[in-house]
Amino acid sequence: MSFTLAIVGRPNVGKSTLFNRLVGKRLALVDDTPGVTRDLREGAARLGDLRFTVIDTAGLEDATDDSLEGRMRRLTERAVEMADVCLFVIDARAGVTPVDEIFADILRKRSGHVILAANKAEGAAAEPGVYEAWGLGLGDPVQISAEHGEGMNELYARLMPLSDGFAARTEAEAPEIDVAIDEDADPDGETVPAYAAPTPERPLQVAVVGRPNAGKSTLINTILGEERLLTGPEAGITRDAISLALDWDGLPVRLFDTAGMRKKARVQHKLEKLSVSDGLRAVKFAEVVVVLLDAAIPFEQQDLRIADLAEREGRAVVVAVNKWDIEEDRQGKLRALKEAFDRLLPQLRGAPLVTVSARTGKGLDRLRLAVQKAHEVWNRRIPTAQLNRWLAGMIEQHPPPAPGGRRIKLRYMTQAKTRPPGFVVMCSHPDKMPESYRRYLVGGLRTDFDMPGTPIRLHLRSQS
Ligand code: GDP
Ligand code: GDP
Repeated sequence: MSFTLAIVGRPNVGKSTLFNRLVGKRLALVDDTPGVTRDLREGAARLGDLRFTVIDTAGLEDATDDSLEGRMRRLTERAVEMADVCLFVIDARAGVTPVDEIFADILRKRSGHVILAANKAEGAAAEPGVYEAWGLGLGDPVQISAEHGEGMNELYARLMPLSDGFAARTEAEAPEIDVAIDEDADPDGETVPAYAAPTPERPLQVAVVGRPNAGKSTLINTILGEERLLTGPEAGITRDAISLALDWDGLPVRLFDTAGMRKKARVQHKLEKLSVSDGLRAVKFAEVVVVLLDAAIPFEQQDLRIADLAEREGRAVVVAVNKWDIEEDRQGKLRALKEAFDRLLPQLRGAPLVTVSARTGKGLDRLRLAVQKAHEVWNRRIPTAQLNRWLAGMIEQHPPPAPGGRRIKLRYMTQAKTRPPGFVVMCSHPDKMPESYRRYLVGGLRTDFDMPGTPIRLHLRSQS
């Protein structure tokens, strides 16, 4: 049994782009169907194994009269009436606008299912908008990029339990049935979208980055088990980012190889400059970034820069130390590496460090597992009830400070986003919170919920 999904939101947030992505070539314009006006587009949509009807309120942009708001209201209300589920789209890059608030009001008053989507969420520029979207009071936003096809797994995970509910309803012809709760739902009754594991259709996107000669091409060749990429002793022999989809011992991945990043001083030609931005681009595409270091010359300036960029872009990071086969004092080296890592990249604390030999293939199993785990953690969602029990324990153990004699009260906490995990803590005087206490909370989250290899964002908000 299928259901009907209405895509609503103000003009320009990406509704049509999403509609086209869901409908693909199966678009059927049915504007002569009774009840469907020319303002509403309808199509047969597909997402994974889900089949449903999608309605798009695209005609709105043509509104030239001054009663745009009235028209928008009527159109949205009609779409909402026709639909089982509403997908309310905002533009995460633009943030929440007053017009979005009007939509949120309409949708909040409606009792049906509403899924909030923060579109244009590719890259870090969208992060503030995702938190603003969370503040609309319509639940956690699904982060998507309609244009790049990102976040479709999570959208699927949100729709799936609902569609089960509709199917059950038709079969039993019982008009009232609760929303089906997926298998990962916690005992407190919250619906937690399942982790969407990589599939051949949606492989895990991995970028291998590192300086020229770190061994990136060798690594990829070994994984491929065949000489598909050109390797050699010359620095920067691969000039462009190359992407390859492959099955890495059962894990579907798309690997982005990048030309080695050169020291700025050595950048001479245009092409070499290009290769630096290729590395940066690969980071933006990736879900997990493998920073490949040469054990003989680890943590040089450009290694640090790219690792820092990956963190700021919110990617999961795994550090791999290569050429371990020719390392003599392994114990001593490992200790030194860990020390240097903590000192030079404190922002990546908790990222796994794996020693490998791209040439012999030793350690690549551990690398694959670290990549897989980092991806899973990066996507993880912790139920609110569990978080608040944890928060209470943290406060008891170490109460927040009282700047100027007024104690900061932490009231409530929830996870507002994933990829990477982002948390919101409602508190008094968020501006007075010292950095050390924030670090205490982030560090606690990382260890208590076992979240290596992913940036963790923590936002403090005052209750309004
Ligand atoms: P609608 O008016 O809500 O139907 O929006 P459109 O689908 O026409 O998209 C408006 C603009 O946003 C177009 O220029 C799209 O190319 C752009 N857009 C749509 N989705 C995305 C996205 O995921 N990321 C970015 N960066 N731009 C997008
Ligand atoms: P890229 O520039 O990062 O793609 O590096 P390459 O894959 O071209 O490797 C640069 C040089 O390092 C080549 O001479 C490789 O044979 C060598 N190399 C790569 N991986 C290893 C390794 O695990 N052990 C050793 N001993 N040498 C390696």
